Amino acid sequence: MSKNGELKKIELPHSITVRELSERLQTSPIEVIKTLMGNGVMANINQEVDFDTAAIVAAEMGFDAALKVLEDKSLEDQSEIPLWRQWISKEKPNDLQKRPPVVGILGHVDHGKTTLLDAIRQTDVAGSEVGGITQHIGAYQVEHNHRLISFIDTPGHAAFTAMRARGAQGADIVVLVVAADDGVMPQTREAISHAKAARVPIVVALNKMDRPNAAPDQVKQQLAEVGLVPDEWDGDTLVVPISAKEKTGLDDLLEAILLVADNNEIIANPNGRVFGTVIEASQERGRGAMATFLVQNGTLKVGDVVVAGQACGKIKAMFDYKGEKIDQASPSTPVSVMGLDEIPAAGELFRTAKSTKAAREIVERRKQLVAEREAVTSGGMTLEQLFASVQAGEAQELRLIIKADVQGSLEPIVSSLKDMKVEEIGVNILHADTGNISENDVMLASTSDAIIIGFNTQPDAATRRLAESEGVSIRTYNIIYRLTEDIDKALRGLLEPEMREITLGRANVLAVFGASKIGRAAGCRVVEGEIRRNARVRVLRGEESLFKGEVASLKRHQEDVREVREGFECGIGLKGFNDFVEGDVIECFTIEKVEVI
Ligand code: GDP
Repeated sequence: MSKNGELKKIELPHSITVRELSERLQTSPIEVIKTLMGNGVMANINQEVDFDTAAIVAAEMGFDAALKVLEDKSLEDQSEIPLWRQWISKEKPNDLQKRPPVVGILGHVDHGKTTLLDAIRQTDVAGSEVGGITQHIGAYQVEHNHRLISFIDTPGHAAFTAMRARGAQGADIVVLVVAADDGVMPQTREAISHAKAARVPIVVALNKMDRPNAAPDQVKQQLAEVGLVPDEWDGDTLVVPISAKEKTGLDDLLEAILLVADNNEIIANPNGRVFGTVIEASQERGRGAMATFLVQNGTLKVGDVVVAGQACGKIKAMFDYKGEKIDQASPSTPVSVMGLDEIPAAGELFRTAKSTKAAREIVERRKQLVAEREAVTSGGMTLEQLFASVQAGEAQELRLIIKADVQGSLEPIVSSLKDMKVEEIGVNILHADTGNISENDVMLASTSDAIIIGFNTQPDAATRRLAESEGVSIRTYNIIYRLTEDIDKALRGLLEPEMREITLGRANVLAVFGASKIGRAAGCRVVEGEIRRNARVRVLRGEESLFKGEVASLKRHQEDVREVREGFECGIGLKGFNDFVEGDVIECFTIEKVEVI
């Protein structure tokens, strides 16, 4: 498979993860996984393979691998980013001590993640004693029963996946927030997949128990169905009823977290090699680049030289989450550090280096590697490019990543697509799963020239942006035969670009207001999806469509807003339409040019 027919020499260590191997071989992890599978080895991206296995893969990719003899840690070794697990495994077992658990909060939108994080923070007496000054540094600690717990307070899956994608691990335990009046929703399932993939235990916070329509038993049933069987039903999952709003059940939740922590090895060597994860980072006026580090091993001190991704520097000052200056930070402590030369990406691993010179050299090499890699990876692929590469004899397959809302729809889609073949081109499904289309999917598609197919699921704005910048095509469907028809057409090269209307949401008109410079506005409640200011709308009265046009104004509590989500009230004014009556429905949609995949 070598491009020039010659085997290129490469040195590989005793063991290497699939991800690292793919980087060394300048190919995608998927190619490595496929080659491994071809040799009867099933491995995932973070798994380690031994030298012999890696050498076989390397040979198939045109490399002649030699075993790298590890001398004393050379700069070159240090410049590779090992995974945090490998780093921990280098510590002597006797030196390892328990450390506070680090907790990440995941869950469906509006189920109460932010409210819970605020409520837990307020339980911290120590925190409020210093005058209640709470600094947002992306993580904080609370004390419960004289034990510390660290919380990452940027809720959401993006941060979590960013860490995993870089081989770091932000959280030891995931608190999955599920609203007792809403139950298991798509992002709940996505959160479960993330936690399971990272092998992080889950504690369920059954939130909004104060709501009259809370249905805890029903939700527990749903949780059991997705593999989280509550402990009271003889399962392994602690499900703690709480109300983040009324601040009830929080002690029980913290108790449950500590219980789970005790059942898992949450350990580090406080005197060992210093490393951890970047939680967030920003440029601050007067202070320069500030980054929040979560120390995972060793003790970070002011004056230490650190490397985080492509940033490095000597730590000039450190602050804890209360904004107080501190000199050192032990494992599981979040600290805001000053002194880096640039802003590292959230989720990046950091570690200390021997000297500023050594740190600079590491960063230089990393920058070089990234530049080389960017030069060889082509990014995503459209169907036109696919056909061009087929004609050039380069591609024989349409690679797909499939995301569907539920297992019940995923299975028939996969089984109807996997055997499709038109002339020489077949379908290769790289990844099929339930859940939202995520940034991880886009990264996978980008590194492996795949196209993402969503069934009853959509990418969020951040994912869409990433797809655009990576040149990855995403197509979404809600009817299976349309999907298979399109793939069939795609394989035949018949697919035309099309314009498709995508419904974003609906709002009911509750009242009509008179005076406004731009005409009349309707007081509405969004009953489905969301209404976006820059999208198109139509007005429906019963079956009849009265008007199609644009939003002139979208307001919440007199303030202009860009979008209003389901369940919320808002004022909507339209360009060129004033004749609302109560009971009308305003439907919001976008028209998207669906690219040829
Ligand atoms: P997030 O999107 O998951 O971060 O959710 P938020 O924390 O922003 O909460 C969404 C909405 O639910 C807000 O209006 C909160 O006030 C409300 N909420 C959160 N927790 C509770 C709760 O325990 N009870 C009730 N009744 N409302 C809650």
